Amino acid sequence: MSGVEVTPLCDAVGPMGVAIRRPLAEMFPDSGLQDEPWVLHFHCYLIRDAAGRLTLVDTGIGDEDSPAASWAPVPGTLAGELAAVGVSPAEIGTVVLTHLHSDHASGVVADGRPAFENARYVLQQAEVDAAQGPVLDRLLTPIKGQLHVVEGHAEVSPGVHVHHAPGHTPGHQIARVGDVAMTGDLVLHPVQLADPAIRYAYDDDQEAAARTRAEVLAELRAEHAILATAHFGEPFLRL
Ligand SMILES: [Zn+2]
Ligand SMILES: [Zn+2]
Repeated sequence: MSGVEVTPLCDAVGPMGVAIRRPLAEMFPDSGLQDEPWVLHFHCYLIRDAAGRLTLVDTGIGDEDSPAASWAPVPGTLAGELAAVGVSPAEIGTVVLTHLHSDHASGVVADGRPAFENARYVLQQAEVDAAQGPVLDRLLTPIKGQLHVVEGHAEVSPGVHVHHAPGHTPGHQIARVGDVAMTGDLVLHPVQLADPAIRYAYDDDQEAAARTRAEVLAELRAEHAILATAHFGEPFLRL
């Protein structure tokens, strides 16, 4: 899509903390993966359209004491990554949250206040409905005045679309701009590209997640889209 730039912002790199770490063969049953260390990247993506409008997809693991602190390599460096590409938080007009897991949503707040003060925060209705605990109290409640809740497909900024892709969580969504698909936790490990039926232990609904993964990947493959994942080592992958 002409004039649109998608910039990966690597918020953090590291293994899962011991609180939730399991051998890979348990995380991805029947995958044939050996028990090697799994080092995750935590990518967010910045979209700048031809008119200069800025959309951020996901907000990373957050501060030292964020809800992700029990298992992710906090603090995230998203603010510094944005500064490095010359963007201040106040310039972001739209924030798409693929889902409300703490490694994607904890950066919505800084010191308990909305980190992107001028942004609308886009979430699926089903994700809002399912929110509870620290995610609800510490992440969703502070931004509730800026929420833009959608159901299913929506164009959230000119040329930027979200699509409901449930299974990993009830309201998980992916974001599209041009031929790039920012897929959140639709796929967690490259082994699932070869076989989308391979389950992930932390998918809320493993069956729905596998079905969604197979459908969405087939569509993206048919158009040779560019996959922009949250957790792979490489931010972009042409299908
Ligand atoms: Zn997740
Ligand atoms: Zn994730």
